[in-house]
Amino acid sequence: METEPLYWVDSYLKNVKAKVISLLDDGFATDKTIFYPGGGGQPFDTGYVIIGNVEEVIKKSYRNGSLIVHVPDRPLDVSVGDELELVIDWDRRYRVMRLHTSLHIISAVMYEKSGYLITGSQIYVDRARIDFPAEEMNKEVALEIVEEANRVASKGYRVETFFVTPEEAREMKDLFRVADFKKYEKYMTGPLRVVKIGDIDIQFDGGTHVKDTSEIGEIKFLKYESKGRRNRRIYITVEP
Ligand SMILES: [Zn+2]
Repeated sequence: METEPLYWVDSYLKNVKAKVISLLDDGFATDKTIFYPGGGGQPFDTGYVIIGNVEEVIKKSYRNGSLIVHVPDRPLDVSVGDELELVIDWDRRYRVMRLHTSLHIISAVMYEKSGYLITGSQIYVDRARIDFPAEEMNKEVALEIVEEANRVASKGYRVETFFVTPEEAREMKDLFRVADFKKYEKYMTGPLRVVKIGDIDIQFDGGTHVKDTSEIGEIKFLKYESKGRRNRRIYITVEP
């Protein structure tokens, strides 16, 4: 049994009909879903489920092995084999997509400018942060990076996602831009998902992105922080 992650193929799906394949203590898994279960610095989706005339909030989704579990706000009367409709909170998800693609652009700009590799990132619903091992960075440089990221985003680069084999991945040198590539070695067994933004960025990524960088709108600098001796952190959001 496994849940097919439709958000990998089309991150713009807002609702889908699915069949219940497993019941867990806190929720249910379906044969396919559009709910992103969280991971890779991207938060899980929320939304609701429609079963017959009943509509119930899905407050959380998470991965459990090959299943993606939807956690309803209240216990649901649902059985294996039931057909239902899943609907995501699109406003929340779309904001997260815009933030996620923004972080990739910022990391590309940073790499182009200084050769720095990402040491961490996290997307929240209203903001996102990204870390670099950049001792000599300061707020002015951080502002310049965000400004340049806005110039890049407004050019409207196409964002593509596709899968490669581990052999193909090893040949794609740009993919090795991530600071700690060793952590990916354990995943180098099956197909690997790649997100490519025009000719400016390419990364291993399981998250959801906008299909054109002009959809991001304005990337707004929020805060610059020193985290420890080496790491420097930038917080951004997207507007409107
Ligand atoms: Zn990413």
